[in-house]
Amino acid sequence: MASAAVLWFGEVMSAVPLRNNKAAAPAIRSVTVLGATGSIGDSTMDLLRASRDRYQVEALTANTNVQGLAKLAKEFGARFAAVADPDRLTELKDALAGTRTECGAGESAVIEAAARPADWVMAAVSGAAGLKPALAAVDRGATVALANKECLVCAGDLFMQRAAKAGACILPADSEHNALFQALGSGNREELVRVIITASGGPFRTWASADIEQATLAQALKHPNWSMGQKITIDSASMMNKGLEVIEAACLFALAPEEIDVLVHPQSIIHGMVEFSDRSVVAQLGAPDMRTPIAHCLGWPDRIVGPAAKLDLAKIGQLTFEAPDFDRFPALRLAYDALRAGRGTTTVYNAANEVAVAAFIAGKIRFGAIARLVEATMEAWMRSGNLAPLTSADDAIAVDHNARNKAVTLLPQIALKAS
Ligand code: NAD
Ligand code: MG
Repeated sequence: MASAAVLWFGEVMSAVPLRNNKAAAPAIRSVTVLGATGSIGDSTMDLLRASRDRYQVEALTANTNVQGLAKLAKEFGARFAAVADPDRLTELKDALAGTRTECGAGESAVIEAAARPADWVMAAVSGAAGLKPALAAVDRGATVALANKECLVCAGDLFMQRAAKAGACILPADSEHNALFQALGSGNREELVRVIITASGGPFRTWASADIEQATLAQALKHPNWSMGQKITIDSASMMNKGLEVIEAACLFALAPEEIDVLVHPQSIIHGMVEFSDRSVVAQLGAPDMRTPIAHCLGWPDRIVGPAAKLDLAKIGQLTFEAPDFDRFPALRLAYDALRAGRGTTTVYNAANEVAVAAFIAGKIRFGAIARLVEATMEAWMRSGNLAPLTSADDAIAVDHNARNKAVTLLPQIALKAS
């Protein structure tokens, strides 16, 4: 990861375009939505629905929700629909009988969906499972709106290098990174001092460590500002989501860990800021609604009409800020550790978290044990002597699988250990 900064004007910045690199958008855009049945998928379909004449849907994918997928495929006349569960092909075919939509099932079908010739692809599968499909879109040089941060955390350098090589255009869809993307155009690399990504602080922002340790699933799922999928909502409560986003920012914009700050901002109105050498700080603001950054990606390089509420700052009255607490939210500290260690450590950070979150949802570990399991898995990885740059998706997936196995092995002892 450390070498990524030198790529700013080379491979990396040709993958995340600068504003003055604007190219004309096609009049009718063919689009594919990976993870169409999820929260980001839903927001994306909402935007497509609002401008039906401007978009042709090439492919849609889902994990197991065949009925939801088929409903969308029918509504949008999708050319291809893929369900990741290999046992659900017949169900999908039955649901789409009488339509022209081709059907596929299994991981390879999701990858095929991404490989089909759409101009614009929303990568919104959740978790590291999104890596191979997103790479399939990147490798054919598509414009990829990237919501799936885990695929960058899992294999960021590789992902950005493949994007640059194929001439793919990566548009950051995560709200904070989209904000940075919009603000970065105000200066150039030598003028950049740091980027600041904001965090709501989640439902446990004001809680004592002992209470966070014992938090229930229902409490973790009560996000104060954003309505999102289950995994990312739990990640927001642990601030693991912000940790993933620190790594995501490092990959997308080729930044060193020292150039990325996190600022707790409970109202979630300012999403990201960039400080330049003259001490100007350029920020992007908006109501907390994912349809705004997605609309920015969908319209790019132009702007389209977004459906989010108009920002009324007079009504909001106050915007407040706090420094993040790395002791009560160790997941955030671990992200910086993983980024500094590099060579697969961020992959391990993400994989262990996916295991930990699943274990927490299943009632096997306390909330506080999520970060402890991630830390123990990272320590085991760093002791293993296996650290090396990831040179292929299979490398990244092998590290991811090994880290998952290690996390599962460590789970019982972490579950028993109180903080
Ligand atoms: P979600 O759980 O609501 O939806 C995930 C989608 O991926 C669903 O369509 C599901 O069917 C599909 N999927 C899940 N596992 C799969 C697998 N193994 N193979 C193929 N498809 C699979 O999640 P979400 O909240 O929409 O988040 C999606 C991604 O976007 C995540 O990486 C998340 O971190 C990121 N993100 C989400 C938000 C948000 O507001 N929801 C904001 C920023 C970034
Ligand atoms: Mg975000």
